Amino acid sequence: MSIRTEITHLTLLLEEYNYQYYVLDNPSVPDAEYDRVFQQLQAIEKENPELLSANSPTQKVGGIALTKFEQVTHLKPMLSLDNVFDTQALNDFMQRVSDKLIRSETTFCIEPKLDGLAVSIIYENGILVQAATRGDGQTGENVTENVKTIANLPLRLRGENIPPLLEVRGEVFMLKAGFKKLNDSLTQANEKTFVNPRNAAAGSLRQLDSKVTARRPLAFYCYAVGVFEGQLPNSQFERIQKLKEWGLPISEEVKRVVGNTDCHAYYQAIAKKRPRLAYEIDGVVYKVDDISEQQQLGFVARAPRWAMAYKFPAEEAVTVVENVEFQVGRTGAITPVAKLKPVFVGGVTVSNATLHNKDEIQRLGILIGDQVVVRRAGDVIPQVVRVLVDKRDQKKTQQIVFPTSCPVCHSPVERIEGESTIRCVGGLYCEAQRKQAIKHFASRKALNIDGLGNKIVELLVDHKLVENPAQLFSLSTSQVITLPRMGAISAKKLINSLQICKKTTLSRFLYSLGIREVGEATANNLANHYKTIEAVKSAGIEDLKTVSDVGEIVAKHIYYFFRQEHNNEVVDKLIAAGVHWPKIEGINESELPLLGQTFVITGTFTNMSRTDIKNALQQLGAKVAGSVSNKTSAVIAGEAAGSKLTKAAELGVSVMDEAALSILLKTDS
Ligand code: NAD
Repeated sequence: MSIRTEITHLTLLLEEYNYQYYVLDNPSVPDAEYDRVFQQLQAIEKENPELLSANSPTQKVGGIALTKFEQVTHLKPMLSLDNVFDTQALNDFMQRVSDKLIRSETTFCIEPKLDGLAVSIIYENGILVQAATRGDGQTGENVTENVKTIANLPLRLRGENIPPLLEVRGEVFMLKAGFKKLNDSLTQANEKTFVNPRNAAAGSLRQLDSKVTARRPLAFYCYAVGVFEGQLPNSQFERIQKLKEWGLPISEEVKRVVGNTDCHAYYQAIAKKRPRLAYEIDGVVYKVDDISEQQQLGFVARAPRWAMAYKFPAEEAVTVVENVEFQVGRTGAITPVAKLKPVFVGGVTVSNATLHNKDEIQRLGILIGDQVVVRRAGDVIPQVVRVLVDKRDQKKTQQIVFPTSCPVCHSPVERIEGESTIRCVGGLYCEAQRKQAIKHFASRKALNIDGLGNKIVELLVDHKLVENPAQLFSLSTSQVITLPRMGAISAKKLINSLQICKKTTLSRFLYSLGIREVGEATANNLANHYKTIEAVKSAGIEDLKTVSDVGEIVAKHIYYFFRQEHNNEVVDKLIAAGVHWPKIEGINESELPLLGQTFVITGTFTNMSRTDIKNALQQLGAKVAGSVSNKTSAVIAGEAAGSKLTKAAELGVSVMDEAALSILLKTDS
């Protein structure tokens, strides 16, 4: 391809992406893909400056003002921001700034990069008179009536010395919780959902009927002053504080710092905090704080020279499904897993993503060979979120075919009524299930066997040293040492851990058996209810259903587990090998002080981890749920609690802090 053709190709691609993103509020590719193409074009233009056109997407602010709205000419252009994606590039920017200003260190105002859309709002004598979108930077859309519906935006400013003309610039965005709620209700109404909160905010603000906007959970934070009459401080940070004094909302996270070290520290800190913020941010904006220095640095085509956005690693990326494999889990469930062309997303390289089951595959409409959008946010496991159907090459794609027998042990598979999963019927005959059962048995919340990681379990089973959890306890150091890459010290350590782990609790023991649908909470309830393993084993289905949290399905899983000879044999052998727990005395459901109460835990705590709190509450008979509802007895809120706290306030659910919690846990009546 000639360079000219390539430039045309990339330009057309970016124009198409811009149209979908800015006009339709419905991007066709993730931002990272857009940024990749944008940078590619930028690099070619840099090498061939004679081919750079003033109309190139790299030279313009990307939006377009729709003619369905009245057009507004901005009093001062609304620009975009330049981006960097790594520390080195940020250092380069800071160096450039310091060199230009002839000083060793520069003071920056640092702000979270809110992921919404920019608006300009004009106040005359403190009264909101006009609001407009950024549009193409020169001309925006008049969205005054819609902006007026935003709950946290004042229609009239308060306080002293308000400039007679004040243009406030900031971001309209949607809280994460509001976004989820909106999409849930759109799904229910069978309407198209929004791809992310940014597009939901843009789509909601750009409605012809402001009644629709009013119903959408929009919020606003301001981060700049445009034109104004009168006096304002000569500092970006101080200007924003002034806006706050006049009643305008600003982000709590705005800081003023000097020098590179603190600039980087801020980035690290907010990246860590990001999942707990109530709103989406996609990076950090560094602005030279001194306004005269900003003026000295000036602008390039589409962005100021005195500001830089340092974007977080993308949480979504495009890659190719190279194959689909089927994995067999602990309970025999066969899960399709997409084998992806490795892609860097959410800060790690991802090459697998679960496709869950047939229903999910149908919902995605995914084929082997498809280009897909993969998402990995925080520590959440990678997900395929959608297929780029437009980019599908019929000749290179093929259907995903489910196996009719277990891919590991070749036993038949069954599909249980009402479930979308298929299962291998091989049970512990199936090597895959054997491995998973042992991994589960050794896991932290079960017997917590130090030194028995997944790799070693695989080796033990592959080398036929262990077939079930009970056989772990007959292992000797000399046997373990024969495993590949196993040293004498690690082998001894493992044998030692196997001794230590024998002392456990009945609830951990029940959990470790890997009975279907029996998680920690249910295991705990069973232990408190029956107190002995014998009593659990002999309980009938109806009796099991009287245990808190146990319904028909779980009761049946427990009942049938103990009706299988080989399971009972394993349980007996474990006890014979010395696995033991303290006798549970005296507790009787009627004495569990928090029985029937449901708690929700949110935020971070100083003295206890969330898991500790959960266990402590469960031991007193309480349920711990993941979301707040009318049934919640109280929300236990630590530091930086977010949307759950808001929800509690909405529903009038009571809230406890750490101090109140410790009192609750100490009371035994
Ligand atoms: P940008 O989002 O990278 O940066 C500028 C914008 O940041 C401002 O206009 C403002 O809205 C926002 N912002 C948030 N917090 C701010 C703060 N504290 N101070 C100043 N501004 C702040 O630039 P852009 O021109 O709006 O959009 C370009 C980006 O949009 C691309 O890099 C890409 O990520 C995305 N995009 C994606 C597609 C797609 O198809 N996926 C298409 C077009 C654009």
